[in-house]
Formats: sequence, structure tokens, C-alpha cells
Amino acid sequence: MEEILQHSQLSIEKSQPGRRGVRFAAVTKCAADYLPAEYLRKSAPKLPEISEFETVRHFTRLSELNYCLDGEFYPLGSCTMKYNPKAYDVLSALPAFASAHPFAPESAVQGTLEMMYNLQELLKEITGLASFTLQPAAGAHGELTGIMTARAYHDARKDFKRTEVIVPDTAHGTNPATAHMAGYTVVNIKSGSDGCVDKEALKAALSDKTAAVMLTVPNTVGLFEKDVREIADMVHKAGALFYMDGANFNALIGLAKPADFGVDIMHLNLHKTFAAPHGGGGPGSGPVGAAAHVAPFLPKPTVELKDGKYTLSGKMSQSLGKMKAFYGNIAVCLRGYCYLRQFDGKTLKEIAENAVLNANYIRVALKGKFNAFFDSPCMHECVLTQNPAEMNGVHTSDIAKRLLDYGFYAPTIYFPLIVPEAMMIEPTETESKQMLDAFVAAMDKIYDEIKTNPQVVKDAPHTQCVKRIDEVSAAREPNLHW
Ligand SMILES: *Cc1c(COP(=O)(O)O)cnc(C)c1O
Repeated sequence: MEEILQHSQLSIEKSQPGRRGVRFAAVTKCAADYLPAEYLRKSAPKLPEISEFETVRHFTRLSELNYCLDGEFYPLGSCTMKYNPKAYDVLSALPAFASAHPFAPESAVQGTLEMMYNLQELLKEITGLASFTLQPAAGAHGELTGIMTARAYHDARKDFKRTEVIVPDTAHGTNPATAHMAGYTVVNIKSGSDGCVDKEALKAALSDKTAAVMLTVPNTVGLFEKDVREIADMVHKAGALFYMDGANFNALIGLAKPADFGVDIMHLNLHKTFAAPHGGGGPGSGPVGAAAHVAPFLPKPTVELKDGKYTLSGKMSQSLGKMKAFYGNIAVCLRGYCYLRQFDGKTLKEIAENAVLNANYIRVALKGKFNAFFDSPCMHECVLTQNPAEMNGVHTSDIAKRLLDYGFYAPTIYFPLIVPEAMMIEPTETESKQMLDAFVAAMDKIYDEIKTNPQVVKDAPHTQCVKRIDEVSAAREPNLHW
């Protein structure tokens, strides 16, 4: 098995002198005839000499070594790895969108602008907020945009003493990073024993120095902040703004409008909730919405409809400026737009309900073996833990690796930080009951192995092309040679 895998992985090392992928007929014109001599290579580049067929096989094999959403159940918590309809890919690749020149006059890109305008309107409708920008290229970029919008708001009121942003310990990790990057002092507050914001801790942290409170809703332990309305009032009373991290809006879409519980600014992740592909480092899209009193500070331009024509309006004099060149990640916006046009309000509500149902199904099915850290109904994901005394030395990372052997992508692990040995499982609404049952059966089997043969779990994975890699070095010192 090892040998076979090696053979497939290293086929590019099978370079044979003189072997070629493509041979062209006689060359009539050559770049060398036109370029100045100093730009010409002195010697041929050292490229592998390999046939086209072998190259295709090499890359096809490599692609098959990857887990992917189109191949396996992908319960990666907080990432909403739901089904991405293929029709959206076709639509977003239409040349009118994909080939539009970034400097084309507005009259030539009315279709793109109309789509952007309609998407802004739909996002306003599902969140209840007054205005949206489609510029941010990811969730974290949306957060940065949102916090800079908050600063522009305070600055316009000459309220310059607000230097702090409050972030609970159940926030997504990008929240404190964002606040810090935007130049604020991050004030962390602990959660209560129920996994929600401890209102006393919030009260103690709020002051006339608070610029914003960033709340992830649902929070990273998969719970809805039950006192969110009261929290919003506390934040507003202190003169601060309430920022909602809405990356996990899959739990709320069609069910709740953040404007109704007092949100001033929020971002959404089109590449999660709105079925645009996620992962691989982008492209993404993290539109930011704002309530009326904050809307004038959002990035400009926004798309406006005037006399039947769509136009980019740069008039907002209090705007913080531009956050992204040209139109933003249009192809991702298009997929999100298709999604919102495909489903009516009732269906969107069912999407959220089923996302919540599926997460609770897994939470309850694994009870007694892997328990939820906070034992209450969850939203779109459940965060499980385990009792180390019962685990025969097996850790969450071992379980994650063993799942690969059973054909499942691993859940998010060791996050959130407040849950020891955390496994954060987000099944999404697009998985069938049969798939959830298969996952639960695999987890049950791993539990049995932990009891009877823990070594097999500790040594996992057994069926993958690589064993345990040094993930830190792989990220910090990538060796991309072979
Ligand atoms: C995914 C996520 C983010 C970050 O989104 P990116 O597009 O990866 O930058 C922020 N907050 C929460 C709650 C998330 O789940």
C-alpha cells in the first residue's frame, strides 16, 4: 500500500530526459526575436520532463487525496459546509459577469449593478438593517470594515475617548484580532456557567471608553445569547455600538432579524450561510450591514437605483472610504444572490430550523459517550467534550484522525478555547438523516475502540496517504518541493 501511494504521489519525479507533454509543429515566430537580449534566459529552465498524460494523472491523483465537501461529510464547526448548488457556479461564470472589465462604464454593467443592488436589498430584508456594503472579501474583512465603521461613527460625534472593544470569550477568534488590528484595546469578558454572556461582567467592562461590543450570535459554543436584547440596551446605554458577528447566520436566517434585537452593525458570510464555496483561502464575501444611524459611515460606493438606472454612488461624505477594489468578489455575491432568489422566506426559515435540528440530533445521539459541554439545546452546531478519565489516554485530536479512516472529515477541534478537548460539530441542513446516522455510528465505533483498543485510535489515521503531519511547521515553513 505504502509503495503504491508513493508511486502515485511522486509521479512527477519520473521525469525522463526528452519526454514532452506537447510538441508543436514548426515554430514560425519566436519571442526571442522580439525581446531585448538581456531579458532572455541564458539556459533552459529545469522543468520536469513528463508527458501530458502522466501530468494529468499526477494532478488527478493529488486531487483525490484531498477531502472535499463534494466527496465527504464535512462537519467542520463554524464553517457551515453545506451543499453549494452547481447551477450557481454556471451562472456566476457567465461571461457578462466573469469577463466584465473593472473600468467598464456603468451603462455597460447594468446587469452586475442590478444584481448587487438586489442583493443589498435582500440582505437588508433578512436582517432588518438599513444599508449594506458588499465590499468586504471575507468574514474577518467584514469585521474590520464594521469596526472601522464604528470608529467613523464615534469620530463624527467627536467622541474620541472610546478606545476599547469588548469581546466575550465565546466570540470567534477573529473578533479580538479584528479589534486589535483596528487599533483598539481588547477587553475580554468571561461567560457565565450557561455559556452565554455574563451580564455582570459586561456591566463592569462597559464604560465611556467602550467603542463597541462584538458579539458572535449564535456564539461559538453554538448557543443563542438569550439576553441579547438586554445586552443591546446595556451597550447602547454606555454610548457604544453593538456589533454582531453574523458569520453563522445559518442558524437564524428566516427566523430572526438582528435589527429587532438591537444590532447596529453586523457582517454575514456569503461563503457559509449563502451556499458559496468555502475554504481553500477564498475568495469569500463578508457583506456588512448597518442600522440607519450608522449607515452613512459604511464604505462607499454603494449601488443606488436612480431613474431606472443602477449607479455607484460615491456621495456619502461621512463614509470611511473604500475597503476593496472595484466591485468586491462579484462571483461570490452572485452565488449568494442566486441562493436568496431561489428560496422564499418560508424555505429560508426551514433551512435554519433544519440546521438546528440536525445539530441537536447529533448532540443527543452521542449523549453518554461524548457530551455537550453546555447541556442545553444548541443552534446550528454542538460543541462536545469528553471525560479524560474515561478515555484511556485518547485525545480529541486522535478521534479527529480516526474519523478520517471512517471516511469523514474531522470536526473543528480544540475550539472554542473555553471547552476542554472540544469537538465542534456543524452538520448543516443539507445532510440527510442517513448521513447523520452514519457519522454517529462512526463516533460510537470510535468510542468502543477507545474502550477496547485505544492504540488503534492513537495511531490513526491508518488509511490516509500521510500520517500525522507537523501542522505548525507545515504552515510556518512550508516545504513545497518534492
Ligand atoms: C468563519 C467565521 C469568521 C471568519 O470568516 P472568514 O471568512 O473566514 O474570514 C468570523 N466569525 C465567525 C463566527 C465565523 O464562524
